Order: sequence, then C-alpha cells, then structure tokens
Amino acid sequence: MTTVTSPSLSNVAIIGAGITGLACANRLVEHGVAVTVFDKARGPGGRMSTKRLDQAQLDLGAQAFTARDPAFRDAVADWLASGLVARWPIVSYQASPNGWQLHHDSRPRYTGAPRMSAITRHLAARFQAHPQTALQLATLIEALHRSPKGWQLQDAQGRGYGPFDHVVLTTPPPQALPLVAPWETTLAEACQAREQRSCWAAWAVLDGPLPTPPGSQSDWQMARIEHPALRLVSRNQTKPGREHQPESLSLMAHLDWSETHLEDDPQAVAESLWAAFTTLFPADTPLPLRVTSSAHRWRYAQPSTADDQLYLYSDSGLAMCGDSFTASRVESAWVSGTQSAQALIDRSVHNRASSSHSNK
Ligand SMILES: Cc1cc2nc3c(=O)[nH]c(=O)nc-3n(C[C@H](O)[C@H](O)[C@H](O)COP(=O)(O)OP(=O)(O)OC[C@H]3O[C@@H](n4cnc5c(N)ncnc54)[C@H](O)[C@@H]3O)c2cc1C
Repeated sequence: MTTVTSPSLSNVAIIGAGITGLACANRLVEHGVAVTVFDKARGPGGRMSTKRLDQAQLDLGAQAFTARDPAFRDAVADWLASGLVARWPIVSYQASPNGWQLHHDSRPRYTGAPRMSAITRHLAARFQAHPQTALQLATLIEALHRSPKGWQLQDAQGRGYGPFDHVVLTTPPPQALPLVAPWETTLAEACQAREQRSCWAAWAVLDGPLPTPPGSQSDWQMARIEHPALRLVSRNQTKPGREHQPESLSLMAHLDWSETHLEDDPQAVAESLWAAFTTLFPADTPLPLRVTSSAHRWRYAQPSTADDQLYLYSDSGLAMCGDSFTASRVESAWVSGTQSAQALIDRSVHNRASSSHSNK
C-alpha cells in the first residue's frame, strides 16, 4: 500500500499566504504541526489584498463573498461576532447605459472590516500565535529540492529553507508548475489542465460624491455593469469601517476585455474603465474629478472552468490546493486549504496507526 511510504507530518512548508495557505496553516498548527508560510509579496492576502492610500483603502481583488459551506459559515459567524467581517453589499444594482435596476439577491454576502485584507491578516496572526511557526514574506520560492531529510525550498536569492516533510503549494497553477514539474508528473499535469484567466482591477478616488444615477438610490454600494469593458463597480466608502473615506471606487474589468488589453499601461486601463463608468450617467451629468487612479493586473485572476476536486497530494509529500481546484471564490479557497490540511492530518494518523499495528 502506497501510504506506508508517506512521510510523517511534523514540519510543513506552505507556499502562498492567501486565504488558502493561511486556512491550511491554521488547521495544521491546531494539530501541533510546525508550519512555515512563504509568500513573494510584502504582506499576506494574495487576491484578497487591499490598496492602502493616504486618502482611502480600496479592495483590489475580492469585493464580497458568500458563505454556503457549513464549516465556512461557522468561521464567518465567528468573524462577524468579532467585527472582522460585515454584511455587504445591502444595496446592489444592475446597471447599463440604458438605466439602473435594483438587483435583488437573497444570498447574504460579506466583506472584510475595515478592509478585505483584515481577514488574511487575522488568519496570519492566529497561526503565528502557535509555537514553531513562521511567516516568511517577500520570499519568492523558485525551486524545490528533494533530499533524504525531506524537501528544501530555494528562493530567488538562492537562499535555502528546510528540510520540510511536506510542501503545500497554494499558488495559482501556472506558478506552481515550475516547482512541481521536476518531481511529480501527475501534479504538473494537473497544473497544465487548469487554465487561468486574467483580470484588470482599476481604482479611483474622487474629489466629491457621485451624483445619484437616474432610477437608483444615493446609497448604492455595488453595481454589476453591462458594458463590454466594465463588469463591476464597488464604492469602498460604503463598506463597514470605511465611512470616513471620500468617494473611492474599485472598477473590475471583464475577463475578455482584460485579456485583449493585458499588456496595456495601467494608467490607460484606468482611463478606459473610468470612461466606461461615466456612460452609466446621462451625458450632461457633472461628475466629480479623480484625485488619483490607476489599475492592477491580476495575471492569474481565476480558473477558466470550475473543478470538483478540493486538493491533490502525492506520496512524496507534495500537495496542491486553492481556488483553482473548485471555483474562484473566497469560500472555495478557504474550504480547499482547510480540507487539504485535514487530509494530510488524517493520512498521517492512519499511517501511524498502521505502523504501530504492524510493530505489535
Ligand atoms: C479581481 C478579482 C475579483 C474577485 N472577486 C471575488 C469576489 O467578489 N468574491 C469571491 O468570493 N472571490 C473573488 N475573487 C476570487 C478570490 O479572491 C480568490 O478565490 C481567493 O482570494 C484565492 O485565494 P488563494 O489563497 O487560493 O490564492 P491567492 O490569494 O492568489 O494566494 C496565492 C499567493 O501565492 C503567492 N505566490 C505565488 N507564487 C509564489 C512563489 N513562487 N513563491 C512565494 N509566493 C508565491 C502570491 O503572492 C499569493 O499571495 C476575486 C479575484 C480577483 C482576482
């Protein structure tokens, strides 16, 4: 049976400090495992990150999330009770140059308070409260090496980390591919099979409040847009904890449009998405001016198709999980990270039981 050869579970490296990696880390440390999380960025969060300007904080990735999974609903209930998340949006619209209609959706949605990245910051602090843990930021992992003692990680500066008995990769599949390809054909093929789409996300801080669009309420919070370039607009100052901010918009582009404009200058993208937004108001409407605006390109924003597998792992101690394994949603990522950790724990408990049984 292959599980007999699996390494023990005592010292794990996780690549990626997005919600998948941090959910995975928290479940493992609860089980007494030593965990080091690596991320190439300067802060945790990944696609739940927030741009922090002097004037405003603007969510650049996920804007609001659902909680359908029972375990994730429990986590969200705890976060709600501690003020880390809040219900948002309450006032949502469907908008096009032809008009605005209230968009009724009975499914509750939540956002981080006072910003989306508060959730991943909380998860990062929570796992680091356990002994034998570390969060290694600004560390781009470029290669994995296998030795008789376990897995060694190598960063872009040539520094080495390890040995670890397991490595969990939570990056989008194209970023995991060069790391797993020399070692595991099955995992490499899984990465190649999970194509990713790109998305431009622009932001704009305005010098005054927006006028109320015809047929809508002045307190609208989010709008799904029918326009070839722009698909969603959210008003960050309507999110709980950010009421003091000036009018500050996140403007999400359509995936097709993003891919056509993938190599454009961020400023040009911000201009195009703002121009698209202005078509939602009658032509003679005076609009506030933009104080600052630009755009962020998410090269690997979401998988092109949903999958039904939550994670993958190999007997050599490599595992992969993340939103590409189910659907591009915050809750899918959390569930994938949590369940992959649980699968590693269950397998190690099973292996220990089999080996103590065979030693009797
Ligand atoms: C524009 C946009 C809008 C979205 N809107 C919503 C929404 O409204 N609702 C919703 O539910 N979901 C939304 N999503 C999806 C949601 O954000 C993701 O499903 C979720 O955040 C994915 O988390 P993750 O941890 O799996 O991946 P990520 O957050 O991408 O984390 C992976 C981490 O790996 C790091 N990394 C990559 N390669 C390396 C390496 N070699 N070495 C070290 N670190 C590395 C990255 O820096 C990153 O921090 C949106 C996503 C985008 C991009």
